[in-house]
Amino acid sequence: LTDGPAERSEKGVPPDEVRGKVALRFGERSLTYGELAGAAGAVAGQLRGAGRVAVWATPELETAVAVTGVLLAGAAAVPLNPKSGEKELAHIVSDSAPTLVLAAPGTELPAGLGHLTRLDVDVSAAAPAPGTQVADGDPALVVYTSGTTGPPKGAVLSRRALATTLDALADAWQWTQADVLVHGLPLFHVHGLVLGILGPLRRGGSVRHLGRFSTEGVARELNEGASMLFGVPTMYHRIAEALPDDPELAKALGRARLLVSGSAALPLHDHERIAAATGRRVVERYGMTETLMNTSVRADGEARAGTVGVPLPGVELRLVEEDGTPIAAYDGESVGEIQVRGPNLFTEYLNRPDATAAAFAADGWFRTGDMAVREPDGYVRIVGRKATDLIKSGGYKIGAGEIENALLEHPGVREAAVTGEPDADLGERIVAWIVPADPEAPPAAEELADHVARRLAPHKRPRVVHHLQALPRNDMGKILKRALVADA
Ligand code: ATP
Ligand code: MG
Repeated sequence: LTDGPAERSEKGVPPDEVRGKVALRFGERSLTYGELAGAAGAVAGQLRGAGRVAVWATPELETAVAVTGVLLAGAAAVPLNPKSGEKELAHIVSDSAPTLVLAAPGTELPAGLGHLTRLDVDVSAAAPAPGTQVADGDPALVVYTSGTTGPPKGAVLSRRALATTLDALADAWQWTQADVLVHGLPLFHVHGLVLGILGPLRRGGSVRHLGRFSTEGVARELNEGASMLFGVPTMYHRIAEALPDDPELAKALGRARLLVSGSAALPLHDHERIAAATGRRVVERYGMTETLMNTSVRADGEARAGTVGVPLPGVELRLVEEDGTPIAAYDGESVGEIQVRGPNLFTEYLNRPDATAAAFAADGWFRTGDMAVREPDGYVRIVGRKATDLIKSGGYKIGAGEIENALLEHPGVREAAVTGEPDADLGERIVAWIVPADPEAPPAAEELADHVARRLAPHKRPRVVHHLQALPRNDMGKILKRALVADA
């Protein structure tokens, strides 16, 4: 990040045309590009020689200043999730071994960080950033994966990886200085931090962070001129649920230039309900901590329900069969593991040479662990994670997502997750976990079976349906299927 408007020429001097413009707004507080550069410069000035610097990722304004300051200092930021449990935090801190922790003044830090030197982030400070020598391959961030499939791993992301991904997305989505992003995501993952903060800053846009996501906040900001919304599927679900009773929200969303969903699959039912009520199709994108962004749709392209678009410029993507053979022709049916190659890739998992080596195929492509098909025109349709979403039953390979989508179309089903369970006869049998819309009156078993039978071939129908009050999810709203299986 050596040439974004907030950090032009490694000195943190924004170009004149954005200097007085609001870069970040969080509730009542805001910073112009000039103020952000001053505050981040003051942070950077205190970080001479620092290697990895932990950032306590709340509140968002201080977090954004802290990370920008770390980047200006040529160090690497390790964003910490304030909601992490003690054990997870201890793991991340001992694994990443930061020299310092940056936090907002007055924030109480947990005991597990007590041994670190603390620096307070003063958003009203102003100092020029010190000149630093940086190389494209230097680490800029160490972001821990979401921990959906196992303990979080620290992905080391270089300055080059960030810059190339942000430029590819900015070009695909045609970001300009006029764009204003409504942001309701936490800043300790790639989605909220890299896309949501560093993205708009790189192109001289503005960010309005909601603090906590709310449909009212989204409507207000879009009505006040914001042009883009980035969210995770749980947010779009809440929007889809609110739309029938909220014509103002529908109007506001209709005004947005770009609605983007990522981090997990957007259920078809929510996609369609939003399109019907607002006339806007949500653009899905597919990325990972390790790869940053892999695919999306151009702002002037076709956002097709159930797909995540096409590889971004510079990203090579292939689908590979179980025996390691790449699938030669896109037929919309052959399922393979997504493997990627390109400048967007992470450098390594911190302290995990074995895991890093295992993550790459012999010929150097990164194995995402996600399964997909490609339409004849190249659009990628994600089937799910190899480990938890691909069910092998009766000789078929069945993606959990298709079954979840069918269940979610039933008005009595609020949330749904599908897993495979060992079965002597079938290899695996399909198990559905649903959260009824009305816990007092869950859909009758036969009626749900009929609903599913009208939508899915016999081998794709769940054999067992469990009712739950809520699905286990992480902070990003991702369903923790390993917890479901453990409960079974
Ligand atoms: P861990 O690697 O620790 O188990 P995680 O994979 O959830 O956690 P992230 O890097 O935050 O950690 O998430 C990346 C994953 O999220 C992808 O590999 C993919 O499975 C899923 N994902 C992201 N975007 C989409 C999308 N648009 N549709 C479906 N799945 C998606
Ligand atoms: Mg992962």
